[in-house]
Amino acid sequence: MSHTVTLIPGDGIGPAITDATVRVLEAAGASIEWDRQEAGSASMEKGGDPLPRATLDAIERDRVVLKGPLTTPVGAGFRSINVALRKHFDLYANVRPVQTIMPGGRYEDIDLVMVRENTEGLYVGIEHFIGMEDDPKAVAESVMLVTRFGAERIVRYAFDYALAHDRENVTLVHKANILKCTQGLFLEVGRQVAEDYAGRVEFDDKIIDNTAMQLVLNPHQFDVLVTENMFGDILSDEMAGLVGGLGLAPGANIGDDAAMFEPVHGSAPDIAGQGIANPCSCILAACLLLDHLEERPTAERIRGALRATLEAGDDLTPDLGGDGTTGSFADAIITQLERDAASV
Ligand code: NAD
Repeated sequence: MSHTVTLIPGDGIGPAITDATVRVLEAAGASIEWDRQEAGSASMEKGGDPLPRATLDAIERDRVVLKGPLTTPVGAGFRSINVALRKHFDLYANVRPVQTIMPGGRYEDIDLVMVRENTEGLYVGIEHFIGMEDDPKAVAESVMLVTRFGAERIVRYAFDYALAHDRENVTLVHKANILKCTQGLFLEVGRQVAEDYAGRVEFDDKIIDNTAMQLVLNPHQFDVLVTENMFGDILSDEMAGLVGGLGLAPGANIGDDAAMFEPVHGSAPDIAGQGIANPCSCILAACLLLDHLEERPTAERIRGALRATLEAGDDLTPDLGGDGTTGSFADAIITQLERDAASV
């Protein structure tokens, strides 16, 4: 069955890694028609709008998106289009699986999943300056928004995910010792939800700073982690670091009506245009997309070819210690897919 998927190449390294990803999916025989749309800085420069109506219409129509990273100006300028897309389509669950796929890293056999609340917390962007005397920016204030509804639906999502994927434990990460209302509510709701899953999925909770340290000391103690928006953003980058960096970490943004898949990393302006961006994170995000479309055998074929290419160590990009390019890395995965197909 053919699927139509909105493709947003994105900024910086985005067009290069999404192009490599499309080639790999085609070589694997994925039956996808790409509905190409624009967003982000490139779109802003071209048409004066970082999130054009045509892009929103396409997502409403297709309901499944593969998105490259989008640049967000730091400190000023337009607000994050990533956050806007997540909020507009109520993509409330940000799911970031982190697995060892590259041999020889700091840790072996890492298999963790971060479930991050994607629409609330500090990222709602309710913030302002308060002027005093002649300083218009004497104070900056930001609101951390946690609702009972939002907390309950993300923790429930984490437990349901654990059940569906044969996971044993959910750890709720919080800062309820200091932020007694916002984080206290998140923890209180989490404990209530956990009772519904008692005997089926184990539950514990940990304070965010301890969790950050424990992830480095002994990541194997964790299974599924669930937390609020900003903590999840930070911890998922840390978790990507456990398995070789941002170039190997995919992410899914899931809502009831739409789903958007993307690499965890950003637009990497420091290497944009050099042809050396690692496409793996985007390819793995596309595998999550194929899982979502119930095209699991195709996703597994691509994951297998990706693993074999990483093990062979040829054509890897510089972030993985090789001297390959985005294109040659994708070509190596495609060659491996062809080899695998020939050997069946
Ligand atoms: P970044 O993830 O773009 O880069 C961090 C570091 O990792 C850089 O040194 C970069 O070269 C490297 N890196 C990232 N992806 C790589 C890849 N595929 N291959 C090799 N190396 C890679 O983070 P940043 O520099 O903090 O952010 C740059 C821009 O991206 C900002 O505008 C930020 O807002 C945006 N951003 C977007 C998303 C998203 O679209 N979901 C996520 C994070 C950051």
